[in-house]
Amino acid sequence: MRFGKNNDALGTVNRGNPTESGLCTLCRADCTGKCEIWLSSLVGRKLLYPRSYGIVTAGADNITHVGVSYNSLRIQGFAYGAHGLNGRLSNDPDDCIFPNVELSGEFGNTVKTKFRIPLMTGALGSTFVAAKYWDSFAIGAALSGIPVVIGENVVGVDRDSEIDPSSERRGKIKKAPELDRRVESYFRYFDGYGGLFVQLNVEDTRNGVAEYVAEKYGDKCIIELKWGQGAKDIGGEIQVTSLDYAQFLQNRGYVVDPDPSLPEVQQAYENGSIKSFARHSRLGATNFDTVEQVREDFMGSVDYLRSLGFKRISLKTGSYGMEELAMAIKFSTDAGLDLLTIDGSGGGTGMSPWNMMQSWGVPSINLHAKAYEYASILAAKGKKVVDMSFAGGFALEDSIFKGLALGAPYTKLICMGRALMVPGFVGANIEGALDPERRGDLNGHWAELPRTVQRVGNSAKEIFANYFDIEKKVGKDEMKNIPYGAIALYTMNDKLYCGMQQLLAGARKFKASQISRDDIFAGNRETAKETGIQHMCDANDQSARKILNL
Ligand code: SF4
Repeated sequence: MRFGKNNDALGTVNRGNPTESGLCTLCRADCTGKCEIWLSSLVGRKLLYPRSYGIVTAGADNITHVGVSYNSLRIQGFAYGAHGLNGRLSNDPDDCIFPNVELSGEFGNTVKTKFRIPLMTGALGSTFVAAKYWDSFAIGAALSGIPVVIGENVVGVDRDSEIDPSSERRGKIKKAPELDRRVESYFRYFDGYGGLFVQLNVEDTRNGVAEYVAEKYGDKCIIELKWGQGAKDIGGEIQVTSLDYAQFLQNRGYVVDPDPSLPEVQQAYENGSIKSFARHSRLGATNFDTVEQVREDFMGSVDYLRSLGFKRISLKTGSYGMEELAMAIKFSTDAGLDLLTIDGSGGGTGMSPWNMMQSWGVPSINLHAKAYEYASILAAKGKKVVDMSFAGGFALEDSIFKGLALGAPYTKLICMGRALMVPGFVGANIEGALDPERRGDLNGHWAELPRTVQRVGNSAKEIFANYFDIEKKVGKDEMKNIPYGAIALYTMNDKLYCGMQQLLAGARKFKASQISRDDIFAGNRETAKETGIQHMCDANDQSARKILNL
């Protein structure tokens, strides 16, 4: 079995109950550790290997596969050959070493967006953890060369933003400081690899977010239409604890529950029986009954966004059933979109109803397997299928490999939500513990370094395995402006990078874009049936039998 609470081999332990991704069901920003994701944010690629080298032996505990999941897929290794050298390398063993595996790539229809690692963040929107740790996420991602997504409602919930609904101007937003902050902090260290998505939901569309972004930033950002996510099948939600803020959000046009305009609710709040309010977004496309109507509206929206000047447009869809999946793939392909992110059930970064998360929608592996199938149908008709990103439960290098392989050749990126946030939290906590005066501003939760960190080191230079790589990149003087959360994110990404290089080398693929479905096999018959990936005893069985007759 994989992802028990303790992993004796790595010396990691989950604070809470582990999920399929390896993260706890509830990942806390104040966690003192130490799951694999948490610890790799400090020690980086060292965590690829079992601990206590020299006095141990180690064996995998993931050999028996039960049920259909990404953990029931296995990665192939081959004993001969080398692919993806592309004139870059010879097939000499001195060239075919894992550090020479190329992970960079690009996505997009006509305008290509480059990345260094086939990874992107999940949508980090109006949820407060996204705002608090934004600099860590954005700067860490920019330094790593991966795209970041600004999620929905960022302008709507910003008390300092100014939206004038009566404005004659094309856009109604006069001021959006939080959105500006997020855009600027990503581009501060952007060096041509990565990209910044800005999402649009119903409220963002009404508020004129697309118009604001187009006017202020031109085509610097990728604009993303949002149909849904894996965590829930209603719009984005946040929780606020002040009546005043709840009323502000209601006046901004959000659905707020319980209704803060009602005298009895205000009384309950003042007496303490209501302690918080939930802010909800609206469902999209409620006024359509047919697929044709949705299609027409979608194409109209894409045309409009292009008319604003956006050269790159994407769509994010959630873990809806097969009809919506087919619509997302077909419409995005027909509209010539640049990326389609397909998010399986059921993790989320913010506030989703728990039992909805547990029970709604199609889990990642089933959804992604069907995405491949539908994309292949369009490809067989001669269509240039939209580039895809798979999301939902990815956190480790092997799961990234499996996701890319399952959706190959259409899947260009893996979208990681919760996992990429852990380094932001742990880095901010370390920085806050080492700099008590700034602890509040940094959103650090620790008064001092816990033993789990002290065992690694007592200063940033001692703790973060990739500290000096970043220093080399940005220069010694600039290091004071790099949040520790960004250093932690870069460090964790470096572990994923190295881990993927090793898996690719073992599969004899020296370029990530060469990963194919033949590089994985299914650990049980049920997973083979659901995914169309061959069972491990069937893959290459025919060629094996021929060998016996040589
Ligand atoms: S960092 Fe999050 S996922 Fe990891 S052990 Fe702590 S709470 Fe769990």
